[in-house]
Amino acid sequence: MNFDLTQEQQMIRKTIREFADEVVAPGAIERDKTKAFPKEIFKQLADMGMMGLPFSEEYEGAGADTVSFAIVTEELSRACASTGITYSAHISLGGAPISLFGTEEQKQKYLVPICTGESFGAFGLTEPNAGSDAGGTQTTAKEDGNDFVINGNKAFITNASYAKHLALTAITDIKDGNKEISAIIVPTDAEGFSVIDNYEKMGLNASNTTELVLENVRVPQENLLGTRGNGFRQFLVTLDGGRIGIGAMAVGIAQAAFDRALRYSKERKQFGKSLSEFQVTQFKLADMAMKIELARNMVHKAAWLKDQGRAFGKEASMCKLYASEIAMEVADQAVQIHGGYGYMKEYEVERYMRDAKLLEIGEGTSEVQRMVIARHIGC
Ligand SMILES: Cc1cc2nc3c(=O)[nH]c(=O)nc-3n(C[C@H](O)[C@H](O)[C@H](O)COP(=O)(O)OP(=O)(O)OC[C@H]3O[C@@H](n4cnc5c(N)ncnc54)[C@H](O)[C@@H]3O)c2cc1C
Repeated sequence: MNFDLTQEQQMIRKTIREFADEVVAPGAIERDKTKAFPKEIFKQLADMGMMGLPFSEEYEGAGADTVSFAIVTEELSRACASTGITYSAHISLGGAPISLFGTEEQKQKYLVPICTGESFGAFGLTEPNAGSDAGGTQTTAKEDGNDFVINGNKAFITNASYAKHLALTAITDIKDGNKEISAIIVPTDAEGFSVIDNYEKMGLNASNTTELVLENVRVPQENLLGTRGNGFRQFLVTLDGGRIGIGAMAVGIAQAAFDRALRYSKERKQFGKSLSEFQVTQFKLADMAMKIELARNMVHKAAWLKDQGRAFGKEASMCKLYASEIAMEVADQAVQIHGGYGYMKEYEVERYMRDAKLLEIGEGTSEVQRMVIARHIGC
C-alpha cells in the first residue's frame, strides 16, 4: 500500500497551490462582495491546461487522473470556493457526461471547447419541482421530424451563463405510464433558451447559479447524449464522479478554515496567553486537523478507485457526505476560535461557513447520500 502522490500529482499540486495562493486567494473577499465571476482566473487556468485536466489528450484534455482533479479542486476551493465550484462543475458535470457518453462527433464538437476553456461546462438536472427526486423531471423533449422540441424549466444550474452548450434531462416519451428520460445537449444560443441570473445566494457568491427556461427549443435528434431512455442512469453515473469534486471542495474549505484558526489562535492573547496555549483550543484544533486528514484520505481513495476502473459509488457518496459535514463543523469552529472577529467579513472565516453549507445540499443532499450509502451496504 502506498499513500504517496505520484510525481505528476505532486507537480500538479505544487503548481496549483502556488497559483491559488498568488492569483486566486487575493481577490476572494472582494469577489464575495461584488459577486464578480472570476473569468480572468479561468483564462489563466485554461492556459495552464487545467480546464480539461482529466480528459483525453485527443480532445485537448491533459489526460491526468481523478486524484489530480481532486487536488486541483481542493487547492482552488481553499483559496476561493466560488472558483472551486465553478471548476468542479465545469469538469465533473459539464465535461464528464460528454466524455463518458458522447459520440466521437459530439466529443469533437462539445468536449474540445470545454477542455480549451472556450466554453464552461454545465449540467441541467434539477428542476423547480424535481430536486432530490430527479426522476420527477417535468421538462419534455418531443420528437418533431429530425428534431427534439424541448419545453421546461431547470433550477440552480451552475455555470450556465458562461456555457456555450449543456446537457440536460428531459422526458422523451411515456410508456405504460413510465417516463422515458433522456439526456440531450442543448446549445445555449438556441432560440427559446433563456438563462435567468436572479438568485441571491447565501454563499459561493462569485459562482454562477441560474434558472433555465426552455420554450420550444429545437435541437437535432443527433444531440441525444448516450442512449435514449438512459438519461437518468447516465446522470446518476455523472453525479458519482461529481461527488468526488464536492468532497475535494469541502476539504479545501475546511483546510482554509483550519489554517486561519491555527494562525489566529497563536496571535490572539487573552488572560495573558495565546489562545493556542489553552488546552480547549488545542483540542479543538486537533479534532479539526484529524477530520480534515480523514476527509482528504476518503476523497483520494474514491478518486483512486475511479482511476482503477473499479466501483466507487459508495466511496464517492461517503467522501462527499463526510467531507461536507466536517467542512461545516470546521468552519463553525474556526469562527468560534476567532470570537467576535470571526463574525466580521474581513477575517474570512464566516465566508467559509456560508460557502461550505452548499456542499451538504448540492449533488445530492446529506440525506440523499445516506440513502445511497444505505443501499450500497445492503439495507
Ligand atoms: C448553488 C447551487 C448550485 C447547484 N448546481 C446545480 C447544477 O449545476 N445542476 C443541477 O442539476 N443542480 C444543481 N443544484 C441543485 C441541487 O443539486 C439541489 O438543490 C439538490 O439536489 C436538492 O434538491 P432541492 O433543492 O430540490 O431540495 P429537495 O429535494 O426539495 O429537498 C429538501 C429537503 O428534503 C430532504 N429530502 C428530500 N427527499 C427526502 C427523502 N426521501 N427522505 C428524507 N429527506 C428528503 C432533502 O435532503 C432536503 O433536506 C445546485 C444547487 C445550488 C444551491
